Amino acid sequence: MPDRMRESMTRDEAIKARALARVRPAPGLCATCQHLQLIESAQSVFVLCELSRRDPGMPRYPRLPRLECPGHAPD
Ligand code: SF4
Repeated sequence: MPDRMRESMTRDEAIKARALARVRPAPGLCATCQHLQLIESAQSVFVLCELSRRDPGMPRYPRLPRLECPGHAPD
């Protein structure tokens, strides 16, 4: 992996970690899920479940903390 790509991933991961730290209550399983999308505003960070776009059984904005989830896909 090129150094530049590695640096970019590290920066992206740091941005994600900062945003995740602002989610209240803590997101639980969503924090480690491939389907997680974080929506940031000046005051808050919201958890959006990308899987809900394909699976109508999944909540678009899951109730947090998510302790069990049939769609959880570890990232
Ligand atoms: S699939 Fe489940 S754990 Fe993953 S983001 Fe959606 S609600 Fe959260």
